[in-house]
Amino acid sequence: MTAQIELAGVNKHYGAYHALKDIDLSIQKGSFTALVGPSGCGKSTLLRSLAGLESITAGTLKIAGEIMNKVPPRKRDVAMVFQSYALYPHMTVEENLTYSLRIRGMAKSDAKKAAAEVAATTGLSQLLGRYPRELSGGQRQRVAMSRAIIRHPKAFLFDEPLSNLDASLRVHMRKEIRALHDRLGATSVYVTHDQIEAMTMADHVVVMRSGVIEQQGRPLDLYDKPVNKFVAGFIGSPSMNFIPAVGGEDGHSVALDLGERQSIELGYAVQPGRSLIAGLRPEHISVVPPSTAMLKVAVGTVEYTGAATHLTSASTPELVMVSNGRAEHLAGEIIGLNFQPTHLHLFEARTELRLEAGQ
Ligand code: ADP
Repeated sequence: MTAQIELAGVNKHYGAYHALKDIDLSIQKGSFTALVGPSGCGKSTLLRSLAGLESITAGTLKIAGEIMNKVPPRKRDVAMVFQSYALYPHMTVEENLTYSLRIRGMAKSDAKKAAAEVAATTGLSQLLGRYPRELSGGQRQRVAMSRAIIRHPKAFLFDEPLSNLDASLRVHMRKEIRALHDRLGATSVYVTHDQIEAMTMADHVVVMRSGVIEQQGRPLDLYDKPVNKFVAGFIGSPSMNFIPAVGGEDGHSVALDLGERQSIELGYAVQPGRSLIAGLRPEHISVVPPSTAMLKVAVGTVEYTGAATHLTSASTPELVMVSNGRAEHLAGEIIGLNFQPTHLHLFEARTELRLEAGQ
C-alpha cells in the first residue's frame, strides 16, 4: 500500500484557537476515508488544509510523496466536491464540466470529448444541454462530481456533499458515490457528521473530537473495539448505553449500578473496587423473563418502528434496548435483560479509556 496523502504532526491555529492538534494520518491510494465527528471538531478544517484552502501552522502535509505545505490549491491536483454544488447557474451541464479544462487552455473539441466521456460514466449523457435549474438535486450532485472527475485529480475531497438532499436520495447517492469511487480507482476523503454515512461508505474511518483524532481504523473495528467512551458513544445507532460500574470483590465480576447494584460474571479478571463505566449496545441486549435474567429493569417507554421495537427502561441511567419484531410491553412492567458478557465494554471511569480483558 502506498500513501497518497500523508500528514505528520499537523497543527492548525486560528489566532489563539487550536483547531487541529498533532494530526498524524496516512491516506492510502485507492482508499475511501471518512472524517467524522461532531460539529466543530475540525473535520472541515482538516479537509480544507488538504485542498490548500487553509494553511497549516505546523507539521508536514504530503500528496503523492511531495510536500504541499506551501503549494497553492490549484497546483495540488486535488478536487473538492461541495455540499452546495457550486455549479455555474448560467452555464449548461457541458459548460460546467468543460470550464475548468478550458481555463487551463484545453482546445474546445478536446474538452467536449472529455465531458462526454465523464458524462457517460456518471449517467449525465442525456443532460449535457441542460442548465442546473433544470436538474434534480441528485443530478446536480452528479454534475458536481463529474466536474471533479474530469480533471483526473490525485484525490477527491468531499465536504458533506449530501447534506442538502432528502433522506432517501442521500442513501441512494451514498451508494452512487462509493460505486463511482470504486470504478475510478480513486482516492477519496469524505467529511460527514453522520456516523452511519461514514460507516457505510468508508473503508477507513477517522473519528475526531476537539481537533484531535480519537481513533481511526476499519468501520467494524471501531464498532467492536472503541478505544474510549467518546468513540463508543459516537459510533452506533441508537448509541451505546453507559452504566456506572465497579469491579467485584471476587476479582472476575462487575457490579452495574442501575439504581440497585446488579452483579455480572465476566469470565476474566478485573481489579476489585475499580471504578468503571460499562457500555452495552442496544442491539446486544435481549429481553427475557425476569427469573432467568442477568439484569432486571422496569419498562419506561416503548416505541415501535415497524421492523423493530425500541424499549427504554425506567432505571437510572436509562437503558435503551432494540429488538426485532413487535414485543408487547407495558410501562412499569419488570423485564429481564440478557447479553453476552463479551458484548460488555468496560471503560475506566476516570480516563474513559477502554479496559482490555484482564487489565
Ligand atoms: P467541523 O467541520 O468539524 O464542524 P470546522 O473545521 O469547521 O469543524 O471548525 C473547527 C473549529 O475551528 C470550530 O470551533 C470553528 O469555530 C473554528 N474555525 C473554523 N474556521 C475558522 C476561522 N476561519 N476562524 C476562526 N475559527 C474558525
